[in-house]
Amino acid sequence: MFVMKKILVTGSLGQIGTELTIRLRELYGAENVLATDIRHVDDSPVVNDGLYATLDVMDGERMQKLVNDYQIDTIIHLAALLSATAEEKPLFAWNLNMGGLLNALEVARHSNCQLFTPSSIGAFGPSTPKDHTPQDTIQRPNTMYGVTKVSAELLCDYYFTKFGVDTRGLRFPGLISHKALPGGGTTDYAVDIYYEALKHQKYTSYIAKGTYMDMMYMPDAIDAIIKLMEADPSGLKHRNAFNITAMSFDPEEIAASIRKYIPAFTMDYKVDPARQQIADSWPNSIDATAAKEEWDFNPQYDLDRMTKSMLENLANKLGVECRLMESV
Ligand code: NAD
Repeated sequence: MFVMKKILVTGSLGQIGTELTIRLRELYGAENVLATDIRHVDDSPVVNDGLYATLDVMDGERMQKLVNDYQIDTIIHLAALLSATAEEKPLFAWNLNMGGLLNALEVARHSNCQLFTPSSIGAFGPSTPKDHTPQDTIQRPNTMYGVTKVSAELLCDYYFTKFGVDTRGLRFPGLISHKALPGGGTTDYAVDIYYEALKHQKYTSYIAKGTYMDMMYMPDAIDAIIKLMEADPSGLKHRNAFNITAMSFDPEEIAASIRKYIPAFTMDYKVDPARQQIADSWPNSIDATAAKEEWDFNPQYDLDRMTKSMLENLANKLGVECRLMESV
């Protein structure tokens, strides 16, 4: 097993970083995980329950200094602009997503660090095969987010072959979680729907009926990052980045899953053309065989199991009185 000793996380106050930082501290010790973000959130466990420093990933010198000061051997680079926001600010997205990664890669090269950075199903495009999308296939995305993700995959491969930097990555599907709110992605509807189901028993979907996208519950995503980073490098034929998915559904199917627990739940549609266009350019369902074969990717949550966990945890968080029907 490959062992991370001192880990720096960028963008640690985001949807993934919040849960990843907490899990890494449990596994590796709070003194061995330095969480960073451009922001400071006073009541966040990421800031309060371990090492925390502010870091703008565009500031490569400060990133290098933190890596030196804390003798970091692993960088988990999460700071980026997500798909919907990136389409609103394409130049800013290019500069942040590529500039931040380039700094992280350079620091990793100078200090001999292992580096993880996520790619996305957004790295595929309209000419990619839509069903069982293979690991190695056409990648011609038509969004700025997708352009930065394909470029990031290539840049990470380049740093591995040219400089020997141990880069690893995952093409995440839409991630669903109850701790931190999502940060402006196309699949955010699949998180919002649970909040609205509990608060108002109804939801208006901005994604159209029949639009299938890959999704995954956050605990499986966190496990996948850690499992890939701990994998023996000799078993990795791919690196940047592995297809992973746990389920694929459209708005009707997630609504039906919620109705198993909240029978009064209803849904209507007001499609957002910008996010629908992005969703239409992505696969219906991707093939995760390479991840299963090369490092034993093994997600635990299907749609109904995730729905139950989301509703229970959110009911607690929101203080909503809710007796879930146990019909599945
Ligand atoms: P998020 O938007 O929730 O969090 C991003 C964090 O980065 C925020 O806390 C923000 O403050 C921070 N940040 C922004 N600019 C920064 C800067 N200049 N310097 C330092 N920090 C900065 O994002 P997330 O959902 O946690 O996603 C993390 C990574 O995973 C991104 O690369 C994203 O593309 C990828 N990803 C996410 C999903 C998903 O569904 N959440 C799916 C596929 C890929």
